[in-house]
Amino acid sequence: MSVTLTLEKIKMKPNDNFMQQLLNTRNIGIIAHIDAGKTTTTERILYYTGKIYRMGEVHEGTATMDWMQQEQERGITIMAANTTCFWQDKKINIIDTPGHVDFTVEVVRSLKILDGAVVVFCAVGGVEPQSESVWHHADKFSVPRMAFINKMDRVGADFNGTINQIHERLTSSAAAIQMPIGHESSYSGIIDLVEMRVVFFKEVDEDTDIKLTFEEIPADLLEEASKQRHILIEKVSENDDILLDKYIHNKEITNDDLKKAIRRTVVSNKFVPILCGSSLKNKGIQLLLDAICDYLPSPIDVPMIIGKNPETDKQETRKARKDEKLCFLAFKIMSDPFVGKLVFVRVYSGTLKSGSEVYNVNRQKTERINKLVRMHANKQSIVEEAYAGDIVACVGLKITKTGDTLTDEAHPLLVEEINFPEPVAYLSIEPKTKADQDKLANALHKLQDEDPTFRVRYNLETGQTVISGMGELHLEIIVDRMFREFNVGANIGKPHVAYKETITKFMRCEGKFIQQTGGHGQYGHVIFEISPSKRGAGVEFENLIKGGTIPREYIPSVKKGVIEGAKNGVLAGFPVIDINVKLVDGSFHEVDSSDLAFTMAATYALSEGMRKASPVLLEPIMEIEITTPTEYLGDVIGDLNSRRVDIKHISEKRNLKIIQAFAPLSEMFGYASSLRSLTQGRAVYTMEPSHYSEVPKNIAEKVLS
Ligand code: GDP
Repeated sequence: MSVTLTLEKIKMKPNDNFMQQLLNTRNIGIIAHIDAGKTTTTERILYYTGKIYRMGEVHEGTATMDWMQQEQERGITIMAANTTCFWQDKKINIIDTPGHVDFTVEVVRSLKILDGAVVVFCAVGGVEPQSESVWHHADKFSVPRMAFINKMDRVGADFNGTINQIHERLTSSAAAIQMPIGHESSYSGIIDLVEMRVVFFKEVDEDTDIKLTFEEIPADLLEEASKQRHILIEKVSENDDILLDKYIHNKEITNDDLKKAIRRTVVSNKFVPILCGSSLKNKGIQLLLDAICDYLPSPIDVPMIIGKNPETDKQETRKARKDEKLCFLAFKIMSDPFVGKLVFVRVYSGTLKSGSEVYNVNRQKTERINKLVRMHANKQSIVEEAYAGDIVACVGLKITKTGDTLTDEAHPLLVEEINFPEPVAYLSIEPKTKADQDKLANALHKLQDEDPTFRVRYNLETGQTVISGMGELHLEIIVDRMFREFNVGANIGKPHVAYKETITKFMRCEGKFIQQTGGHGQYGHVIFEISPSKRGAGVEFENLIKGGTIPREYIPSVKKGVIEGAKNGVLAGFPVIDINVKLVDGSFHEVDSSDLAFTMAATYALSEGMRKASPVLLEPIMEIEITTPTEYLGDVIGDLNSRRVDIKHISEKRNLKIIQAFAPLSEMFGYASSLRSLTQGRAVYTMEPSHYSEVPKNIAEKVLS
C-alpha cells in the first residue's frame, strides 16, 4: 500500500495541513530481547533528536527511559513509557515496550497501538529466543518493522551471521540496506546500499558525538556493494510489482525507485530492511532515524480503526482525521508522584482537548480531562490538544482503566473488548506496622489502577492481604515495586495456585436459621436444588418460589447468602464456581423473619448441599505454547509429560517445532528455568490462563491434606 493510495482511499485533499502532519508522524516501538541494547539505542535516539543533552548510560543507572529504580536494577524494562522526539520534519513517538515475555498483556497492548517497530538484535548473540518471541508477537498484530543489528563494535560481531539467523528463524523476506565497513573495534562506517555511497562515522570528540561524512564507494568495495544491492532489489521485488516489473525487464532502477519500493513493502509488512550500528559508540543512530522516517508507516498508512457501536452492536470505522468523531484508547496507566494518575492514550480519530468531558465506553460514564501531557520519559510538557495519530498522557481521568476506549458521548465506539483472565496465583502480605498497613493500601490501590490483571483481597479472618495475578513472576514484580516505590514494610508469603471448588452431583438441600428464645426471634428457612453447571458459569442463582412461600422482599437476602456461602467451599475454603442454585421452597414467620435470617439460612443450606453433592477441587489450566528447535523436542515433551501436560498439537515452522498444550499451573512454577536448561536457552514459551479443570483425585488428596 503506497502513501498515495492511502490518501486516495480516505479522500483527503493532498494539501490538507493536518494530513501532512499525520504523514509526518511515526508511532513506533523499539523491541528486543533483554540486553540487545534497546535502552541504549533509545537513549541515543533521544540524544540525536536533541531531547537530552547528556547521554545516560545504562550501567550507571541514569538512562532516561528506565526511570523506575527497579527497572534500572533488574536491567529490564517492565513498564511502557512513551516519549516524543523530532527528526527531519517528522514527529516520532517512541512507545517503550516491555521486553519480558511473561508480561504478555503489556507486550500485546503496546504492540497493538504501534504503527511500526525497530527490532534490535545483538551482532554477537544474533537471534536469541526472546527475539523470536517478540517477533512472533509483532507478526500477530502485523506490525511493520525493521531490524537494527547493534553492538557491531564488539568482538565476535557477525553481521552476515545475524542476517542468516533472521532468515532462518524469523523471515526470509528481509535484506540488508547497509553493509558495514570495518569490523569490531575498526567498525567505522557503512555502505548505504540504497544511495550507493559510503557513510563514515567520524568521532567529533571522545565519546559523545559522531558526525557523518559521505564519500564515494571505493573501488575495492564496489563489487561486493553491487552484489548486496542486487540481493536487496531481488528481495524487495518479490513483494512489489512496480519494482519487479523494472527488475525483470532490466529497466533502470533509480535510488528513488528503490527507496519508494522499500517503503511500500515495509508499510504493507512484506519486507524487513536490516541496518547495523553500535549504539554505545553512537554509530549508526542518525541513519537509523533516517530509516524510521523513510520506511516506517505513518498513522494513515495503517488500516483504519474498527470498533463496535455499543448501541447498535454494529461495526463502525473511524478515519485518522482531526475532524472525525473522537476515539482514543487507554493503553497504559502510571502513577506519577507529582501529577497523580497518568493515563496514556493513543488517539485514533478526532481532536482531544484539555479540559473536555469524554465518555468512557467500557464503564459507560463521562469523565473530565484536566490536562494533556506529552511525555519525555519521566518529564512532561503540557499541550492543549492532541489529534488523531497522537500519543499523549491524560491527567484527571479517574475511572479509566487500561484497555478502555473513550469517545465523545454522542458517538460511542468500543475498540477493544477487554477480557482479562481471572488471576490464577496468589500470595499473602502482612504489613509489619500500622503505618505500613496504610502505605500498603495506598500502594496496592495505585498498582491495581495500572494493571488490571492484578487483584487484591483482604482476608478478615487472618488479617492478611491477599494479592493475586497471572503467575509467579507477575506477583514477584508487584511485591518488588511495593517495597521499593512505596516503601511498604511487610512479610510476604509463598505464591500459591488459586484453586476453586465445585460440585459434581444434583442435590436437594435445606437450611434453617431459627432462634425463638422469647421476644423478637429469628426465622429463615430455604430449600435449594443445587446442580453442577458448565465451566465458566460462575455462581448462578434462580428463584423458583411461587405463591409467596417466601415473601419477595427476602429473595435478595437469600441470593446474598448463596453468594457469601460460595466464597468458601466445603473442601478447603476455596471459592466455589460453576454451580447452579435454585430456590424451590422454604417458609417464613410473620414476626421473626428477617433479611439476616434468610441470608444465614441460605449460606447454611448451600454448605450442607455442597458437602453431599460430591464436591471436587478445580485447578487453573494454562494454555501454553512452546517454540523449540527440533533437536530438543524429545526432551521438552518428556519434561511436559512429567508435569501432567495435555499436548494438543505440534506443528513445524522451518527448523522449529511449536507445541501447543494445556498445563496445570501447579506443575509450572519454575518452568522458565527448566526449559532454559533443557534447551540451552533456545526454546521460548508463552503461558496464559485458559480454564479451570478438576484436579485428579490423588493430587487433590495431597493439596487437601
Ligand atoms: P536492553 O536490555 O535491551 O535495554 O539493553 P541495554 O541498552 O541496557 O544494553 C545492555 C548492555 O549492552 C549495556 O551494558 C550496554 O552498555 C551494552 N551495549 C548496548 N549497546 C551496545 C553497543 O553498541 N556496543 C557494545 N559494546 N555494548 C553495547
